[in-house]
Amino acid sequence: MIEVIGSDYCPSKIVCVGRNYIDHAKELGNEVPTAPLLFLKAPSSFVPDGKAIVLPEQSSQVEHEAELGIVIAKQCKGLADDADITEYIKGLTCVNDVTARDVQRNDVQFTRGKSFDTFCPIGPHIVADLDLTDISVVCRVNGEIRQSGRTSQMVFSPAYLIRYISRQMTLMPGDVIATGTPAGVSKLSAGDICEVEIEGIGILSNPIIAAKD
Ligand code: ZN
Repeated sequence: MIEVIGSDYCPSKIVCVGRNYIDHAKELGNEVPTAPLLFLKAPSSFVPDGKAIVLPEQSSQVEHEAELGIVIAKQCKGLADDADITEYIKGLTCVNDVTARDVQRNDVQFTRGKSFDTFCPIGPHIVADLDLTDISVVCRVNGEIRQSGRTSQMVFSPAYLIRYISRQMTLMPGDVIATGTPAGVSKLSAGDICEVEIEGIGILSNPIIAAKD
């Protein structure tokens, strides 16, 4: 089953996992966390496939983060460590967790650096019944590969993440979990085309424009 993600898509929240690939934690000089590091992106940062990522005037270092996105099927709260998660997954999609790295570093909270308008491309569609344990996650900028990883390299598996997050906050239908990014994050510039490709899902492609364009 495939469902297109359109411009009217509005999750109640986008839950992100920081430093969930060892090589990405190291490239930013961070320790690998002993529990999932969670933060939220504002739902207003969502844009669908094909729409522009706008570089805000507040940042001079906007970076891509290619991530597997899990779309939640039904309300999900307080799952035990051994709970079956199958019924809670509507499907999988591509997410670009666009980040103003300089803003993120300056602020104690991740909120501002992660939630500028257009900073969360999601799509192009949701694919159901796909095995998420070992699929490739790739980011290309202008056709050149910048990030390449596999979901089997995650510190905390998707199943672990869903159960863990459900004990911190109630997940609602349509909510998206962005499961972390592999190494290779790099700066985006106006005129670039950024693509996130996940095996079995497809390609999420967004052009980059300056705020004044
Ligand atoms: Zn991320």
